[in-house]
Amino acid sequence: MKGAMLYGVKDLQVEDVETPKVTTGEVLVKVKAATTCGTDLKIFQRGYLEKIIKLPAIFGHEWAGDVVEIGGGLEWPRKGMRVRAGNSAPCLRCSMCQKGKYNLCENMIWLWGAYAEYIKIPARMILVNMQEIPQHISYEEAAITEPLACVLHGVEEARVKLGDTVAIVGAGPIGLLHLLTVKKIGATKTIIIDLVDERLEFAEKLGADATVNAGKVDVVETVKQMTSGYGADVAIEAIGLPSTWEQAVKLARKGGTVLEFGGCPPGTEIKVNAEMLHYGELTVLGTFHTTPLHFRKALNLIASRAIDVRSLITGKMRLEEIKKAFEILATSKSEIKIAINP
Ligand SMILES: [Zn+2]
Ligand SMILES: [Zn+2]
Repeated sequence: MKGAMLYGVKDLQVEDVETPKVTTGEVLVKVKAATTCGTDLKIFQRGYLEKIIKLPAIFGHEWAGDVVEIGGGLEWPRKGMRVRAGNSAPCLRCSMCQKGKYNLCENMIWLWGAYAEYIKIPARMILVNMQEIPQHISYEEAAITEPLACVLHGVEEARVKLGDTVAIVGAGPIGLLHLLTVKKIGATKTIIIDLVDERLEFAEKLGADATVNAGKVDVVETVKQMTSGYGADVAIEAIGLPSTWEQAVKLARKGGTVLEFGGCPPGTEIKVNAEMLHYGELTVLGTFHTTPLHFRKALNLIASRAIDVRSLITGKMRLEEIKKAFEILATSKSEIKIAINP
């Protein structure tokens, strides 16, 4: 089969690799669409934590496809079924899982390999994190289940409520998924902050009530003005930089919540004003990844179009063009997600 092998930073080749062989309890899926994501871009541009993905490897983790082979001993799924799975499967037995913190599982299985013609699904993944896709949605839409699941988990932890004002730093795919989600929950004022006008215009099309270009105005000042001097009920950082983590802390009102969503490089430390934390009763929290429950919820929200993700796919490219796709993503101002079709 053809697969996009990543040997190291920016060293990506589409080549013939061996099609994975399935054994008992596993299935083989023909990938019909795999979407690009900030995490894949990060892996392409600067590598990633070894415990999550070890290069060389085929990367890509947001995908959907058809079951083509069943390794035996399985009552579900059946051959020909349209499915999505991954990219994580917690063990359900470790101390984190037993506390219900499935996203922090000590023995997590991660599944990569979506930028290829076929992907093998491990037994545990089939059990805890694989779903059938309804006929009326596309493979591309179903692939977005993974990032939406992460966003749902974050937004639930940050307790966004009906009537809230929400400020979101970053108008990339993750920032925009936060926007769609908090609007659905019933946030009445959403403010999106980014450096790129094209992205801010796109956020407006998706329903952002206000946008702020961080390169042109004082972000904290502007958001305060937009919120009668208070700041947002919830501020969400969806980029992953220490400077924007610190900025998000300054965007929330007294009694408000700051969700630090974007992952910063290892070793990063940030400064938080202790006065605001104490006298302002600010809640600052980080969230990481997501849980099987949120994967199921995300797919249901996509399928019902309660959260319509179709407009986030701004391009489609063949697997052979994947290197070009990532180069475009690294430089483009308007590309959100590119669907890779093997
Ligand atoms: Zn992703
Ligand atoms: Zn576990």
